[in-house]
Amino acid sequence: ASVADHPILKGLNNAQRRAVSSSSATVAILAGPGSGKTHTLTSRVVWLVDEVGYRPQDVVVATFTVKAAREMMDRIGRALGGGREKKLILGTFHSICRRYLSAYGGKIGLPKDFGIADDKDSRGIVERVCKRLKLTLDPPTARAWISKQKAGGSEKESARAKKPPGKSLGLQELQTCYDEYQKQLERSNLLDYDDLLVRCVELLRKFPSCVSNIQSVLIDEYQDTNGIQYELMKLFAQHRSRITIVGDPDQSIYGWRSAEIGNLWRLLREFKGTEEVSLEDNYRSSQSILNLSLQVIQQDKDRYKKVLKPVHTRGSRPVLRKLKNAYAEADWIVCEMRRVIMMSGNMLTHSDVAILLRSAALSRHIESTLGKAGIAYKMVGGFKFYDRAEIKTLLDYLRVVHQPHNNDALSRIMNVPKRGIGEGTIKNLIEEAEQASMSLWTLLVKHCRGQRTAKTKITKHTEQRITGGLIRVIEDLRKISAHTDDVSGDSDGLVGLIHQLIKLLDFERFLKDTHPDDHEQRWANVQEFINVAADFVRDLEQTGDDTLPEIQGLQQSVETELLPRFLANVSLASDVQTGEDGENKPLVTISTIHAAKGLEWPVVFIPAVYQGSIPHARSEDQNEERRLLYVAMTRAKCLLYLSCPTYRSNSSDEPCELSSFVATISRSFLEKGPCLDRPVMEQIAQIVKRKLPSNEAIYGSLPSMYSPEDDFGCGPESEQDNRRNTSRQIGASIDAPPAKRPRLSAPAG
Ligand code: ATP
Ligand code: MG
Repeated sequence: ASVADHPILKGLNNAQRRAVSSSSATVAILAGPGSGKTHTLTSRVVWLVDEVGYRPQDVVVATFTVKAAREMMDRIGRALGGGREKKLILGTFHSICRRYLSAYGGKIGLPKDFGIADDKDSRGIVERVCKRLKLTLDPPTARAWISKQKAGGSEKESARAKKPPGKSLGLQELQTCYDEYQKQLERSNLLDYDDLLVRCVELLRKFPSCVSNIQSVLIDEYQDTNGIQYELMKLFAQHRSRITIVGDPDQSIYGWRSAEIGNLWRLLREFKGTEEVSLEDNYRSSQSILNLSLQVIQQDKDRYKKVLKPVHTRGSRPVLRKLKNAYAEADWIVCEMRRVIMMSGNMLTHSDVAILLRSAALSRHIESTLGKAGIAYKMVGGFKFYDRAEIKTLLDYLRVVHQPHNNDALSRIMNVPKRGIGEGTIKNLIEEAEQASMSLWTLLVKHCRGQRTAKTKITKHTEQRITGGLIRVIEDLRKISAHTDDVSGDSDGLVGLIHQLIKLLDFERFLKDTHPDDHEQRWANVQEFINVAADFVRDLEQTGDDTLPEIQGLQQSVETELLPRFLANVSLASDVQTGEDGENKPLVTISTIHAAKGLEWPVVFIPAVYQGSIPHARSEDQNEERRLLYVAMTRAKCLLYLSCPTYRSNSSDEPCELSSFVATISRSFLEKGPCLDRPVMEQIAQIVKRKLPSNEAIYGSLPSMYSPEDDFGCGPESEQDNRRNTSRQIGASIDAPPAKRPRLSAPAG
């Protein structure tokens, strides 16, 4: 039989087959969105394991979002069978590095129980450093600069020489800030996201044998790797492993995180004989969606041009809709979404719909409108469940239970619940502890145990509350935690620990007292947090542990404690690039565009397409902003909606100007909801790979106003038609399903 008949290659086109079965040492697949790059990459993993015979534990697969990693794992799992996919070293760069560091970090002097500072933590530390040292820096800028220094992968000296944007006088301050920030992390035994990469590079440089087993390294979304990730790729592959990268320069959207598009050309330069494969067929989107997306990206004259042809037929033209304000926009989205789902019979559900936002801040109206309509949704990327105050507090307690010397977390919970300790006192205590070269925890414990070490004034009453409410709670929990180390059994352990924490803090009472208006929602979030922990334990039991393959002569420390692993998991999951998941439930997805990379939905809404939003007011790179819009548009398979409010919000009359990226091609869009007639429905059915439901299923159950002829978007596009398509009218004529509480929704206000 010919190679083409091989089961792994079935259904692939020629170029894809060539890439999957290539025996070249380095393969680079450069192609546009929806051309099957990820599909090809996962097929290649299966090929390497099943056909070439590599052990799964000898294959590294890196991608950029937790969700993408999970989807890959599923896809590969279905093809490989036998649960072998779980052995792959597959995940985001950060999570792969964490695995190596917890196994071998001791070799480079990393303490075993290091914690992870997520973006928010890092920002907090930078802010405090700036304040304490009275630096004139803007903390976010300083944070970004520090991250750039680390992520560039460049040597420290050359990094120092690099000038920051703006005042040159600032350079000295930035360096001071950097040094102090790093000291703070070390003192609290924390690694930030960049450190995970930096330290892993150090490990693999000094101890190449850690990766002596690796046979193949595969990277998805390669266009968004930064300097240090490139370094990591090379280090993972240092024992003559094969490298496969897939990417699309047009979808490079992490320049702000130091992604270097130059890594592509660097790879081709450094790995001579790299086999380049281009994929030219787009299997994802309808022709009209693809064409309009291409019209957007083609405005960038300097781009690396590639061929991308639609496989599907024309389909319905995308919609560009102007609404009065953000409220009307959210209403319209909800109504249109309902109309589409209804018109489709049972073909489409809420889970087929995504709302993609340039920035998380835009989600407020959409969330509340969906909530009011009783439509359940999940939030992905950038909207951090773990950032909600009540969850953050619980997490901080758990962090201190794990690492009492984590000054950062401890200082945040010292006065939560209220113990009569003011900001100033906390600040003084931290400074005092630093001067005495001890941790805040040590200082507090000593002081409260009668040694009266602290010079900072603390009243007797406060002291008692610190002793009883804080130190005792932490110590009690540490005792419990010491008995929850068994990963295999006792799923009560971690969950029990959290229950106990909530009880000891009288947390429900605390929420009621401090948030009389929305304590119920906050309490529901706490319950959800407990679910997250329970899920984590269950997952761990199913997948086994995440230790690395055994390598002769190399002892890895095996991480058995549940709490630190849970905390690491949470820290990595609140990365801007990741999100939580409500698998298998028909939930509408609300996502940042960044987190939607690599994913696809039949129906996609992109609200707030105005100047200042996209392109974003604070972005310096217009081309990157355009690529972002391109990424967003190319997520859609069948129906694509862009919208823009005329005014920013109800209360203001600040007008919004349509994004310049679509202003010149606005005539190519429909102005209102598309006509969902039979041909369109057939195409949708074809693309979502389901059979077209019978005519009756589509139209039978609809209220009479939904006869196909009367459909919105049919006939002349008059003002009147547009007005008829207002949300209020549609909303009123559809019975809303009983209100459900949206998962993970933000507390009101
Ligand atoms: P992006 O750049 O957005 O990440 P991609 O190039 O990685 O896109 P995939 O997500 O792999 O594209 O594929 C897009 C869609 O096309 C998926 O639904 C996939 O199943 C489908 N697809 C890929 N290759 C084929 C093929 N040969 N035949 C049919 N469908 C395919
Ligand atoms: Mg992809």
